[in-house]
Amino acid sequence: MKIVRKLEGLSASRGIAIGPVFCLADETPVSIPRYPISESEAETHWLRFETALELSRKELFLLKDDQNKEQSLILEAHLMMLSDPEFIPQIKKALFSRLFNIEYVLKEKVNEAAGMLRATGDAYLAERAVDIEDAFDRIINHLLSPSLKTKKSGQKTRFIPPGAIFAARNLKPSETLALKGSGIVGIILEEGGATSHVAILARSWHLPAVMGVRGLLDGLVDGKEVILDAVDGLVIVDASSDTVAAYRLRLRSDMRQQAENAVERSALVKAQCETTDGTILTLRANIALAEEAASSLEEGAGGIGLFRSEFLFLGADGFPDEETQFVAYQTAVENMAGAPVIIRTLDAGADKMVGEQLDLAEKNPLLGWRAVRYCLDRRDLFKTQLRALLRASAFGDLRIMFPMISNVEELDAVLEVLDECKAECLRDGIPFKTDLKAGIMVEIPSAAVCADLLARKADFMSIGTNDLIQYTMAVDRENPKVSHLYDCYNPAVLRLIAQTIEAGKKSRTEVSMCGEMAGDPAAVFLLAGMGLRSFSMAPTLITQVKEFIRKVSIEDAEALAKSVLELSTARNIRKLLQEKIKAYE
Ligand code: PEP
Ligand code: MG
Repeated sequence: MKIVRKLEGLSASRGIAIGPVFCLADETPVSIPRYPISESEAETHWLRFETALELSRKELFLLKDDQNKEQSLILEAHLMMLSDPEFIPQIKKALFSRLFNIEYVLKEKVNEAAGMLRATGDAYLAERAVDIEDAFDRIINHLLSPSLKTKKSGQKTRFIPPGAIFAARNLKPSETLALKGSGIVGIILEEGGATSHVAILARSWHLPAVMGVRGLLDGLVDGKEVILDAVDGLVIVDASSDTVAAYRLRLRSDMRQQAENAVERSALVKAQCETTDGTILTLRANIALAEEAASSLEEGAGGIGLFRSEFLFLGADGFPDEETQFVAYQTAVENMAGAPVIIRTLDAGADKMVGEQLDLAEKNPLLGWRAVRYCLDRRDLFKTQLRALLRASAFGDLRIMFPMISNVEELDAVLEVLDECKAECLRDGIPFKTDLKAGIMVEIPSAAVCADLLARKADFMSIGTNDLIQYTMAVDRENPKVSHLYDCYNPAVLRLIAQTIEAGKKSRTEVSMCGEMAGDPAAVFLLAGMGLRSFSMAPTLITQVKEFIRKVSIEDAEALAKSVLELSTARNIRKLLQEKIKAYE
């Protein structure tokens, strides 16, 4: 009898998924999918094969140089197999006659060839069978999965069956990026929190995700069916058939509901985010990739409030050059049709290590060489990014935002580098937006406390609650053991936010919020009452924030904010907020 395992975690991206699990920590091989294809699709499959073949050859060449003589000979043999003038055409012939997906046909041909060698009973030939399997598995892996690369462990390539739920202990942002387009339907992690970068990406991609599921991987093997309930933060393994049926019903009814709400939703997309008594809030989108700009317009975003540029640096091998960055920034700006696009300069470090940071092994990376601290030491890199940003600013309302500013000197220093880049552009006749706005993230408590001083020099300030909570409460935002302390409603956090809003008001500097708190309708209600008028969130959350705010009055929000700021515990603040919200349901 199957024993049901029900595990609890934090819902990081809402939704439900049911499917076979794919465990990153579990090396058990999974089966290769098999599906029929048409003749015209066979052409595409062959092209994919040729690309994967070329990639595998390149890899083998590179690997060969790093090995001793004996190993190098083995790889040489693999290379010869991948160029076999008889075997490769046989694969093509089989693909066009069998009309099944290339991975399946290839595996079938490889098994056939290896089987024939083994059947000879000759020990030498049997070893060659292993070599054939090894050499062609490399191609199959490329065909079936994105590469999950880590600098330390070298290339880790595994294939992920489409429709799988991805489970792992933790994922680096670069590894998460590699999952894009893999066809997975959900993510479960043993570690991580709701504001980890995996969670942020999952929300952007509408993928249900649950984080901080302790003991998740114990005994879990690839292919096992799991229910991922990212509404209630649950993972159910070996569920009874009744439970599976109930969840399938829920999934179908969610989909029906979404279809029914489509008309209402499209009206909401076009509507202003306006309270019943006429206060208008600006809602912008947080994105990680330039191509997400266009889809955030479809969600009704009034601009990009945060473009996390570091994902460009994490996805590429090495740092992207000026031209690559320019194209990404220009794409985002042009896609937003004149609306503001706030691009944050490289926020590398901590959980988003790049280049030499990976080898550094700092004792406290969260308090270490990250964001502008890193960029100011790596001026070459920083200036390349700033030049790319300046060039792209000629194409629309691009604004530059500096992350992790902790004091006025640091702001002076980054603005000085920006001025240097502007002077170089002028000298070289490169056009850029001369009245370009340069602002800062307020995400370190020292910046919030000195927001009045920073506001004199920054064109705008954006409150990054993800880090602000982490640093105010001294709680790692990804550590599930202390996640009970990670609370945006802690009075200390709210006071710092209030102080920043006030400083902005006094100096007429625009203040907005781009941390995850800004995507919670209840929080936006409270923050609007505290005087905040601009918010940036995952594009998928824009309509739900708008829907709620259109039901409330600013008068109620202000009264609520006044009461909240007098309360001394996060628990009581949440309670009061829930009571108020109920009145609107
Ligand atoms: C934040 O800290 O609130 C923020 C928006 O930045 P990130 O989540 O990328 O650290
Ligand atoms: Mg941050």
